Amino acid sequence: MAQLEPVQDNPVTLLRKAHDLLGDRVGVLSSFGAESALLLSMVAQADPEMPVLFLDTGRHFPETLAYRHDLAQDLGLRNVIDIAPDARKVAERDPTGELWAFDPDACCGLRKVEPLRVASLPYMALVTGRKRGQASTRAQLNVVEHRQEKGERDQIRLNPLAFWTAQDITAEMARRGLPPHPLVAEGYLSIGCAPCTQPVHGAQDARAGRWAGLNKTECGIHLGG
Ligand code: SF4
Repeated sequence: MAQLEPVQDNPVTLLRKAHDLLGDRVGVLSSFGAESALLLSMVAQADPEMPVLFLDTGRHFPETLAYRHDLAQDLGLRNVIDIAPDARKVAERDPTGELWAFDPDACCGLRKVEPLRVASLPYMALVTGRKRGQASTRAQLNVVEHRQEKGERDQIRLNPLAFWTAQDITAEMARRGLPPHPLVAEGYLSIGCAPCTQPVHGAQDARAGRWAGLNKTECGIHLGG
């Protein structure tokens, strides 16, 4: 994607260029989490028809599902696609619904990684809202990532907000009048599935409440870059 100038371009410009270059082969991946409204607002500004993929794991907070519905409507996003795990696989591999408690990697594989792998096949590029400042594990994140998973074709990840600080995000959300996820007010600064998400305290980084107490920092959908 030589035509993109990822660091110089502002996020809306980058989204428009990606759409001009790739058309329907660019999609957006959103958790409708703590700060997702900002990227989604920029997507609506660039092209409200752009596909937005939401992984409906079956384990979200009710507040997230309500926010996903209301925010999409308020922003005028016309192509939000809910991606659910395969019901037959869930019945086989997580019959009690407690897989998260004893094998969270397997649970994320079943409910996130595998469904996204199938759903993302039509897309050459996926846009994410990840930022360097969210966690030490994301400190090297770049605006453009080239991913290649074993046996699979290349895919580009675009992270237009990679270099935005928490202060930048807060200020721009306020300027745009965007509603934060309702659980932010309760200390949830990064929001995933309910069983695996806790509020954070003091100087902890935003993702410290994800899989707290476990040697796990990512669900796997962003690995392989
Ligand atoms: S975040 Fe937790 S509940 Fe959600 S898919 Fe991963 S392990 Fe399962």
